[in-house]
Amino acid sequence: MRGRHPGAGMATGKTINDTIERRGVMLVLSSPSGAGKSTIARNLLASFSNLILSVSVTTRPRRGSEIDGTHYRFISEAEFMRLRDSNALLEWAEVHGNYYGTPRDPAEAAMAQGSDMLFDIDWQGGKQLMEKARADVVSVFILPPSMTELKGRLVRRAEDKPEVIEKRLQNAVKEIPHWDEYDYVVINDDLDRAYHEVESILIAERLRRDRRHGLYDFASGLIEG
Ligand code: ADP
Ligand code: 5GP
Repeated sequence: MRGRHPGAGMATGKTINDTIERRGVMLVLSSPSGAGKSTIARNLLASFSNLILSVSVTTRPRRGSEIDGTHYRFISEAEFMRLRDSNALLEWAEVHGNYYGTPRDPAEAAMAQGSDMLFDIDWQGGKQLMEKARADVVSVFILPPSMTELKGRLVRRAEDKPEVIEKRLQNAVKEIPHWDEYDYVVINDDLDRAYHEVESILIAERLRRDRRHGLYDFASGLIEG
């Protein structure tokens, strides 16, 4: 049995932890728009192997910097309704007057192969995933240090028109009260520190005993020699 957890795994960049079978983590990141969740999500995806982004479908117009199929799949409202009505979405919500949803198949495939998946979704979507898959979901709510800074970030991001920014700030007032439905709350004042806090959450949650069914074999292998 020990042979299944060879130290040689290190040669492939894998740690011994990576060789022990476990259920994937569904990492849900939510925040009011502009608090920094996409930035933190991007950094996590660059640093963690075995972490896949759930690419949502949306009816929102594409921003200049966005790539269809990478950041979102940009679809028509008719197509969105077709997906929703055929149960192809794991969750969906209307946010800032547009529809957003999580495609079911990629998420279920990732979970089945023990990959972790990152969901950049709003509180309505977070709530639906927590209801559907409580044991697998780890939810993190990201707060800005102040409303002035939140507005400043939306303005500096320079991706949205002033009226869109105003709508996002109004929506922030409705989103923020949901912080207490989440497992963890991170205040993003200093980006490096906030990133390291989220990173620590993922590292710790990956190590939770109840996700790691492979530990039974590993531990009995230690004893059997
Ligand atoms: P969200 O995905 O929550 O809407 P973004 O990740 O797009 O937010 O961040 C909004 C803007 O704020 C971006 O321009 C980003 O570079 C910037 N930003 C993120 N975190 C910080 C921080 N801690 N301090 C200053 N600016 C930040
Ligand atoms: P944005 O338009 O800034 O990309 O996203 C607006 C909001 O919609 C963000 O809070 C983002 O997390 C959320 N969102 C993005 N994709 C989904 C999704 O698939 N489902 C839900 N419920 N919210 C989403």
